[in-house]
Amino acid sequence: MAPVDTLHLRVTSTRTRDGQLAVAAAALRAGKLVAFPTETVYGLGANIYDEDAVRAIFTAKGRPPDNPMIVHVADVDQAVNLAQRVPRHFPILADTFWPGPLTLVVPRNASVFDAVTAGLDTVAVRMPGHKIARALIAEAGVPLAAPSANRSGRPSPTCAEDVLAELGGRIFAVLDGGPCAVGIESTVLDLSRRAPSILRPGVVTREQLESVLGTRVGVARSNTLHPASPGMKYAHYAPATPLLLVLPSARAAGTRKQLAATIRGLREQGRTVGLLAAAKYGDLGADEFFSLDTGTDVEYARLMYRGLRALDTRGFDAIVCPGLPEEGLALAVMNRLRKAAHTVIKAHPGT
Ligand code: AMP
Ligand code: MG
Repeated sequence: MAPVDTLHLRVTSTRTRDGQLAVAAAALRAGKLVAFPTETVYGLGANIYDEDAVRAIFTAKGRPPDNPMIVHVADVDQAVNLAQRVPRHFPILADTFWPGPLTLVVPRNASVFDAVTAGLDTVAVRMPGHKIARALIAEAGVPLAAPSANRSGRPSPTCAEDVLAELGGRIFAVLDGGPCAVGIESTVLDLSRRAPSILRPGVVTREQLESVLGTRVGVARSNTLHPASPGMKYAHYAPATPLLLVLPSARAAGTRKQLAATIRGLREQGRTVGLLAAAKYGDLGADEFFSLDTGTDVEYARLMYRGLRALDTRGFDAIVCPGLPEEGLALAVMNRLRKAAHTVIKAHPGT
């Protein structure tokens, strides 16, 4: 691919007269790749009806060709137009959670290229909550295939600068809408089979889905031989620096002790350490500290990828990060951290 100078387009309003948005929409219609903000992470968009543009996404990301993409729509009609049939649970879920961080996998019709779905007979669709994303899709006039705007296997970008660090010179433009409010990827729910099942945990939790549907929602197991979702079998979200994930202890004092011991152990071996953790752990003596503020699940989601990226650029021997108890939104956070981790350190018994 010939290197291009990626345009950095700053959007301040969703009115197309503002210019930048119109430039991005016209480029998408012309088959170019444009990264854009959503409330979850930045996506790398292409017109789904332009097969070459869709293929160019795989090249720019270095994405395995058998990993399908999420199609982003501006309204429910655009989603329904891609479906071979509308699953029973679709209307209430779209009504409740759209626009927002829930992706629905539905049977697809013949209008969707194989390149988008990696040959599957289903398509994943989502109406993003971010106003700039919806305005861009509406102005482009076509749904956009848009995986996260990172090189395959790396942490997702949550601001325009991170997109440029990943894909600068490989895509036409990034539309800058500031940092992402949520910070981790959408929940992916399969509606194409008899029982709804979560393929990727996210901000919308199993409990929320069950309470809206009034029925049990399954969670697909990661199975690398026969994955329910192709994305499950690939390494994900990982910084180049080895990440040591320290599982939380039952008591906060135990977690602090374990973290301190891990950092001390590494430093005694002459290794440099970056620590990604709640502000209260800022005194543990790492070479550099990236604060996850109060360290709630919401703060983890919002800041985690940014912190991993920032510490990764420093060339330390290790990044240490304490985990969270796995429930609700923290389940989605830990799903990413476990996949990104080089080593998972168990809590000390009795702490
Ligand atoms: P990303 O590329 O980061 O946006 O992630 C998209 C996720 O959705 C990946 O894990 C894909 O495997 C998954 N996905 C996309 N389309 C489908 C589909 N039709 N069936 C199952 N999983 C899908
Ligand atoms: Mg991704």
